[in-house]
Amino acid sequence: MIKPKVGVVSCSGECCSLGTLSRIATRRVLEDLKAGETVTICLPLFLAGDSGERMFAKQFPTVAVDGCHKLCATKAIEKYSGATAATVDVESMLEEQGSDPPASRRIFTPEDMAMVAMVAGAIVEKVDGIKEAQDA
Ligand code: SF4
Repeated sequence: MIKPKVGVVSCSGECCSLGTLSRIATRRVLEDLKAGETVTICLPLFLAGDSGERMFAKQFPTVAVDGCHKLCATKAIEKYSGATAATVDVESMLEEQGSDPPASRRIFTPEDMAMVAMVAGAIVEKVDGIKEAQDA
């Protein structure tokens, strides 16, 4: 039986390093850790009103990955498509750890890449939780 894929959508995140962190972690999940089990959309195209894109959350249970408490991806998906299955709030994760955001939006240090791995792991946990619920 073909299992339904899980959507993983990062905020566009051009505004700050937390957005870069969200996008890199999301790509790592899509291309490596959960390749073949996950799909994504282009958030700007979604916001522009593409009707196909706006069916997304109705077709796929979706994890929104947001760089900060503004939760742009979560709010956009829930406004235009449907409820998200889960949200990863990267700023909250860093606050819980007492970690500062990466200093640069463009150049990540090894410590920043360790945060990428942590966020990717949190996304994988959400994806696995959704798939377990589908199997139950
Ligand atoms: S959630 Fe935060 S980091 Fe992401 S696009 Fe919105 S303001 Fe930028």
